Amino acid sequence: MIPLAKPILGKREKQLINEVIDSGIIASGKYVEKFEQMFAKVSKAKFSVVCSNGTTALNTALLACGIKPGDKVITTPFTFIATSNSILYCGAKPIFADIDPKTYDIDPKSVEKILKKEKNVKAVICVHLYGLPCDMGELLKLKKKYKFVLIEDACQAHLAKYKNKTVGTIGDAGCFSFYATKNMTTGEGGAVLTNNSKINDLSRKIINHGRMAHYGHDMLGYNFRLTNVCAAIGIAQCEQIEKWTKQRIANAKKLSEGLKDVSFIETPFVPKGYTHVYHQYTVRVKDGLRDKLMKYLKDNGIGCGIHYPEVLHRQPLYKNLGYKNNLCPVAEQAAKEVLSLPVHPSLTAKDINTIIKTIKGFKK
Ligand SMILES: *Cc1c(COP(=O)(O)O)cnc(C)c1O
Repeated sequence: MIPLAKPILGKREKQLINEVIDSGIIASGKYVEKFEQMFAKVSKAKFSVVCSNGTTALNTALLACGIKPGDKVITTPFTFIATSNSILYCGAKPIFADIDPKTYDIDPKSVEKILKKEKNVKAVICVHLYGLPCDMGELLKLKKKYKFVLIEDACQAHLAKYKNKTVGTIGDAGCFSFYATKNMTTGEGGAVLTNNSKINDLSRKIINHGRMAHYGHDMLGYNFRLTNVCAAIGIAQCEQIEKWTKQRIANAKKLSEGLKDVSFIETPFVPKGYTHVYHQYTVRVKDGLRDKLMKYLKDNGIGCGIHYPEVLHRQPLYKNLGYKNNLCPVAEQAAKEVLSLPVHPSLTAKDINTIIKTIKGFKK
């Protein structure tokens, strides 16, 4: 079986975890600080606050950017549910904009349509889905015109670049996940990146019970802290993430080359000047063949998955909140056709050939 995802954990991770255990300080401490510095450095951000996971990173960023109960926040319905749930946690209201059919990222034209209609949109969360940056140029233009907070959900996009700018540093804040299947991991973990010192200071307080000094608290905060044990893994992962990213890009290139003549498959599209880091290598399977192809691949030992089989406004949770079907037809169509294939750095050249050959052997 060629797995869809495979975390890479080795000697260095073990060595650093042992150091943490020997130090006796297994909760938050200097390994967390070191991981923060290293993650800020590889991401070219001024500040980084690491926290317990990507979901709490999003929650923290929204709160640090002043999102309050009743505020409206635009986002995409074609993402992991944590993106929009983080809006609900703040008591704010998610408004779903449709996606671009080629990039699967939020469509700035759809965002503007909403901005023209809805008053008091406080923020937009754009998601760099699968590791492909959103159209940040257009989103920044809208930000200037309509004045909103721009938060990047970069949970799938460590080190991705939009025209030489690393994602997570382009909007007001960028949120990352270090869950086991992400491009780099700490088991569970997350980070908020920002170049704004106020957002940095507030985020740091929010994840630590609103603490300003030892047992001095002037706001409601949470316990969203990361542990030294997790940070130890993160430090080791930071040392390799640049290499792994290159391997993902090289694997994706081989897959796209090998699959370019397969009539029923549309390989990932990367706009000029964007660096896609392929958290997922997701193709569009045409002619209604997606589910049949997925079963065939699994039967033939190739891990694959659907990201995502249902748009968020059609999830029971959101339906019960009053969201209607057919709100975002482009996203709804994508949910029926996308299929993610293995692209992770542990794949061998033979694995990649097997994936290509197996797909080419599929009988409609
Ligand atoms: C993984 C992910 C999250 C949530 O991250 P966790 O660490 O699992 O909480 C949020 N948004 C997107 C797009 C993700 O892929």
